[in-house]
Order: sequence, then structure tokens, then C-alpha cells
Amino acid sequence: MEFMLSLIVPMYNEEANIDTFYKSIKDTMLKNSYNFEIICINDGSKDNTLLLLRELAHKDERIKVIDLSRNFGKEVAMSAGLKYASGDAIIPIDADLQDPPDVIPLLVNKWTEGYDVVYATRTKREGETALKKMTAHMFYRVIAKLTRIDIPEDTGDFRLMSRQVVDALNQLPEHHRFMKGLFSWVGYKQTSITYEREARFAGKTSFNYWKLWNFAIEGITSFSFAPLQFSSYLGFFVSITSFIYMIYLIFNTIFFGNPVAGYPSLMVAILFFGGIQLITLGIIGEYIGRIYNETKRRPLFLVREEINIPSSSVSRKN
Ligand code: UDP
Ligand code: MG
Repeated sequence: MEFMLSLIVPMYNEEANIDTFYKSIKDTMLKNSYNFEIICINDGSKDNTLLLLRELAHKDERIKVIDLSRNFGKEVAMSAGLKYASGDAIIPIDADLQDPPDVIPLLVNKWTEGYDVVYATRTKREGETALKKMTAHMFYRVIAKLTRIDIPEDTGDFRLMSRQVVDALNQLPEHHRFMKGLFSWVGYKQTSITYEREARFAGKTSFNYWKLWNFAIEGITSFSFAPLQFSSYLGFFVSITSFIYMIYLIFNTIFFGNPVAGYPSLMVAILFFGGIQLITLGIIGEYIGRIYNETKRRPLFLVREEINIPSSSVSRKN
């Protein structure tokens, strides 16, 4: 069959994985005689990732390298890769071999059956703590409740997308890019296959719980107004309650007089309302901050160097 696969590989400090990754991808591609390109995005690595990529790209023209000017984070690195991909089907894949290359032919088969998006769902997660699995599970639950789009659970960025879908994604201008959400948002004909997720081959994950927490906030605020609505419901509820309390106080004072005590209740009221006001202001602030960021209209990423990218290729304005 005559089609070309673009693999998109964001890389941040992956020197220990590059060679094995390249070999196993090449194996799979040869076995299935696919045409392919591997688009490696060096996301401001502090180790020898770029050096190793240069060497590989020198030996193999199918390796294309985009060296970003600094660390922009995985979501942006992946978006950069999507802009450069020239294949008929595009597959984002991690460099640490957690997304097994053997799964690629399964994705391709479904695609040739006529699906636009084939995502790979994990049935097992090796080498991850129970706490990480639990928080991940909760995250999918919460996001499913709060947003209208359907983000499949236990599905990472590893998936196959048709040219048409990637063209659609490339049109999305937002800077706050919660890719899992955007992948679902574009729609098209989607299906899934399952696989077992391996542990990282080498190196260590760069996602700690603080980063994951921020990732979750990003996902929720990008696709849902629920926190804002929650603030107004909370405000409404509190006003009703205090109105009832006010009536009670007035009647109580009229009929039974006012002995002027009430320091505790006064204190409780002040602290309670102060807290609620700060929380709701914070929620509004989260959204305003994002509006502010979007209005700056900065480019999504900056490229320091391109290797093996034909100068005439692709519309890669961002
Ligand atoms: N990555 C990146 N930029 C970052 C952090 C990670 O490009 O700032 C890449 C990393 O090199 C890897 C992929 O994103 O190819 C997934 O990262 P990691 O394995 O650390 O995440 P996890 O598998 O734990 O979710
Ligand atoms: Mg990983």
C-alpha cells in the first residue's frame, strides 16, 4: 500500500532511549514495509538528546528533527510536530517505549478500514504507582462529569489520526492546548484498540503530581465553565441561607430583645464569607489568566533548528 506514516515524538531528556526507540520503530516499519518519517521534537533537553538526534538524522533521512528554542512542554512539542508532519496518517508516540511500536500495525489496519482516529487504550499500566493510577482514574471521572466532550479513559496521546484530522487540529489557534481534549473535540469517525502499557525503558518521568494537578486544571478550564457555574450556585445558596438567618435574627430581636453577645457568630460569618469570596475570585482568576494568555497572540513555539525538513514543505506557521 502506498501511504506514508508520520511518527511524532516529543523528547525531553531522552538520551538513554533514543537508540532503542529508533531501532524498534525501524524494525516494525520494515516488517510491515511502511513508508515513514519520524519527526523528533527536541523540547529543550538538557542532556545529549539533540546531539544523538543529529547523528541519527545524518544517517537516516527519514529522521526529521525540530529543535525548539527551549522547553515548551509536551503538549506544545506535540503541536509543533503535528504542524511539520507530512504523512497520510499521523501517530504521536512517546520516546520512552511506553507506547509499544508493535501496536502501530493494529492502528494502521483500523485506519485502512476507514476510521479517522484510532486511539490506543491501555489495559495495564506497568511501573506506575497505585496512587498515580487512582488519581488518573479520578481525573477522567471528573472531566467526564464536567465537560461535554468525551475523553476516553486510559488513553494517552498514542493514537493514529488521518491527514484530515491533523489539518483540523492545526487550525485550532489556542495556546492552552489540552491535547487529549482537542483530539476528542475535533470529532470524526473514532474507534479504539487496546494494548498493555509497558514501564519506561530508561530515564524517569518528568510528570510529578504538581504538574499533573496543573494538567487537570488545564483540562477542566479548557473545556468547561462548570467551576464558574459552581461559584454562582454557591453564591446563590449562601445568600438564601443568610437571608433566612437575617429574618430569624430580626424576629428574634423584636420578640426577645438583643442581649448583645454574638462575637462567635460574627466571627464565623466573617471568616466564612471571606473564604467563599476568595475561592470564587480564585476560580474567576483562573479563567481570566487564560483569557489574558490567549489575547497575547504569541507564537505557540519557536524553532532554533530544523534538520531534514525540505524548505518548501508544509504550512508550518503557528
Ligand atoms: N516530554 C516533552 N516535554 C516535556 C516533558 C516530556 O517532550 O516537557 C516528552 C518525553 O520526552 C516523552 C513524553 O513527552 O517522550 C512523555 O513523557 P513522560 O514519559 O515523562 O511522561 P509519562 O509517560 O510519565 O506520562
Ligand atoms: Mg513515559
